[in-house]
Amino acid sequence: MSRIVMKFGGTSVADVERIKNVAVRVKREVDAGNEVAVVVSAMSGVTNQLVKWCTEIAPLHDAREYDTVVATGEQVTTGLLAIALQELGVSARSWCGWQIPIHTDGVHGKARIMQIDTDDMVRRMREGQVAVVAGFQGIGPDQRITTLGRGGSDTSAVALAAAVQADRCDIYTDVDGVYTTDPRIVTKARKLDKITYEEMLELASVGAKVLQTRSVEMAMKHRVRVQVLSSFIDAPGTLVCDEDEIVEKELVSGIAYSRDEAKVTLVRVADRPGVAAAIFGPLAEAAVNVDMIVQNVSEDGKSTDLTFTVGKADLDRARKVLEDAKGELSYEKLVSDANVVKVSVIGVGMRSHAGIAQRMFQTLASEGINIQVISTSEIKISVLIEEKYTELALRALHSAYGLDAA
Ligand code: ASP
Ligand code: MG
Repeated sequence: MSRIVMKFGGTSVADVERIKNVAVRVKREVDAGNEVAVVVSAMSGVTNQLVKWCTEIAPLHDAREYDTVVATGEQVTTGLLAIALQELGVSARSWCGWQIPIHTDGVHGKARIMQIDTDDMVRRMREGQVAVVAGFQGIGPDQRITTLGRGGSDTSAVALAAAVQADRCDIYTDVDGVYTTDPRIVTKARKLDKITYEEMLELASVGAKVLQTRSVEMAMKHRVRVQVLSSFIDAPGTLVCDEDEIVEKELVSGIAYSRDEAKVTLVRVADRPGVAAAIFGPLAEAAVNVDMIVQNVSEDGKSTDLTFTVGKADLDRARKVLEDAKGELSYEKLVSDANVVKVSVIGVGMRSHAGIAQRMFQTLASEGINIQVISTSEIKISVLIEEKYTELALRALHSAYGLDAA
């Protein structure tokens, strides 16, 4: 007997037929003798509609009331799924975040889970009752409903799995697993059987939008085994797990890309102590997130070029901050380019093997693709290239690292 947490996203509970289909899947796990908790999202499109209503009444609305409104989507699905389970003869009960309770901090609209008291819920699960839990929501220190940020029900599921010490957390979604790269671009992309937490974290944060990043961080911290699988087909998905659990490790597990980058270059900025601080300080204050950074060695000892990337949506704000500080920074020119894409090669194998970066550079060179910026971490190499080469670069790299499906 195992204890499992199953999570169903918005498309999996999009209408009554799909909710009934979810109930059948849950019943299967119950019939196999498992103790089951189910975390559900709102029916697809519902949260967007709720957000829209808030914004229509007041573009800048009270965050507490926003949470009151947007948390309702999940409450509807918990009740409907509990009814669907009962119809199949399965004992089930719905739970809102505050009823468990799932305690969060007080940052309404983007709260973090602090602690979950699962005693009551676990006692009922032991008696054979399925707990149907509303994802995305909790209760803050002010005793009011909070929500965890968009896509937050992944995090609810992993946090609950950690709290009840589940053997597994199955995240059912509209894709059947985690792929070596975006299958819409590279037809030879392969589904991975297993991937490490660290690799998944890099994949999640560079644009393979399968799991909310925060849910992967939480899974890694609490060592929750997370399986990503489809709620529409019957096949094993991808297990996100510890490195020790993966016997045959690939050098490179995946290739990700992000179009959400823009490049900024400050030409001939003064080369003296404090300049980087003077540039990035005001950007941080303006809440502009800076990603890749390169600074050239100065030729004359007086000035140098500095290039970095920001999110596309932040580009105008970044330009304004730097233009305002022009007097102080005394650079010659500010140049920006939003026509770029960041392509990243990810793999824990990089820790122990040389030559992985070289293969990336070689492959791009032989396709005639110019690399504008490079950055690396322990398990990732990222390059910034012209956006029009996205498809070509992904396909060439996917082949070069031997990831193509047979
Ligand atoms: N319903 C919420 C959203 O759409 C939470 C979730 O689905 O994960 O963002
Ligand atoms: Mg989601």
